[in-house]
Amino acid sequence: MDILEYINSAEKKIKKELKKVDEVVFFNSKKVLDAFHKEGVSEYHFNSTTGYGYNDLGRDVIEKVYSDIFKSEDALVRGQFISGTHALCVTLFGLLRPNDIMLSICGTPYDTLHEVIGIVKNSSSLKEFGVKYEEINLINNDFDYEKIIDRVSKKDLKIIYIQRSKGYSTRKSISIEKLENIIRKIRNVNKDVIIVVDNCYCEFVTTKEPIEVGADICVGSLIKNLGGGITPNGAYIVGKRDLINLVGQRLTVPGEGKEVGPTLNMNKPLLQGLFFAPSVVGSALKTAILTSFVLEDKGYLVEPKYNEDRVDIVQNIIFNNKEDLIRYTQGIQMGSPIDSKAIPVPSDMPGYDDKVIMAAGTFTQGSSIELSCDGPIREPFIAYQQGALTYEYGKLGLIKAIEKLEEKCEKTN
Ligand SMILES: *Cc1c(COP(=O)(O)O)cnc(C)c1O
Repeated sequence: MDILEYINSAEKKIKKELKKVDEVVFFNSKKVLDAFHKEGVSEYHFNSTTGYGYNDLGRDVIEKVYSDIFKSEDALVRGQFISGTHALCVTLFGLLRPNDIMLSICGTPYDTLHEVIGIVKNSSSLKEFGVKYEEINLINNDFDYEKIIDRVSKKDLKIIYIQRSKGYSTRKSISIEKLENIIRKIRNVNKDVIIVVDNCYCEFVTTKEPIEVGADICVGSLIKNLGGGITPNGAYIVGKRDLINLVGQRLTVPGEGKEVGPTLNMNKPLLQGLFFAPSVVGSALKTAILTSFVLEDKGYLVEPKYNEDRVDIVQNIIFNNKEDLIRYTQGIQMGSPIDSKAIPVPSDMPGYDDKVIMAAGTFTQGSSIELSCDGPIREPFIAYQQGALTYEYGKLGLIKAIEKLEEKCEKTN
């Protein structure tokens, strides 16, 4: 059977799952549109400021729209954030003081945070400023409730850090229900600890977001889900007003905080990206579901499976050998709109401990709401695939990746 026929017949078997995605897309589209209506988003909000960025009406309305969507008291949505990691770094430096303790309850955080926290030595890390770090690992893909409650009861913690998406680990991502459950348990014994959530890759995958289930502050990148493939850079932070104020003082300067920050023609792409985001996240989810079904059908281990509830847009394919990981990733690059002739190879990346291979034939550098695939070159050689601006392009990318993956079989047969 030719590959397109094969993919089309696979598609027929995942109809129910694709339909469920459409329902979430509709719900979140309404959430976005309601926020635009409530805040009266107008054409004049597309204007932007330069220099200090005083009185930027577009910036203010964007932050109100984000607050409505996340049901938070306040928001900081800025192009001055270089990345999700930068926003997480500013959040942690904004909230933590010398001798404070930060506890991660999902094990070790995402690779790029190791030098921020000081897990990997860096003379500018939180650790060098006297911030203490502890972690509790997940057990069986869930929180270690007993250990966490025991530790939290001592009431000497400043921050509890929860990373929802799995990053480059083999664990499952943390659902909103699990998040709600652990926050309720923490609040029973400790009202004051600040609960920080890394929400990268999880926005609009389901109908609820972390602040709605009790998180104090929540962070994510705009070149992932909420940028809808249109916002060219930046990150968002939403949460309690006093916390957002502290983080704003750290992002700019004490005394100016959120009041400054020029938007440099970013307001329209920020709003338009958010407007597209529910539907683009839907395309990414459909592409992930199709990928999961097809690769499992071809005998590979996948996580999550096509019919499992999803928490984020990431699809893992566990290759168990380096060559397949490399070939598949190269195939994703070949199926990309940009730099399709480039051949990705494993290389050292700033912020990552192992060599990493990355396919990113994207309009925006490093954007992973666009179809992209990456993985550290370490056992069990897992591809982390995510994104697709449209489902059709996602499907075409998958076809190329499978063709490239199966090249070796044809050659040896
Ligand atoms: C992508 C991501 C980040 C931030 O990464 P950037 O590339 O710096 O935007 C942080 N945590 C998780 C879980 C992520 O997936």
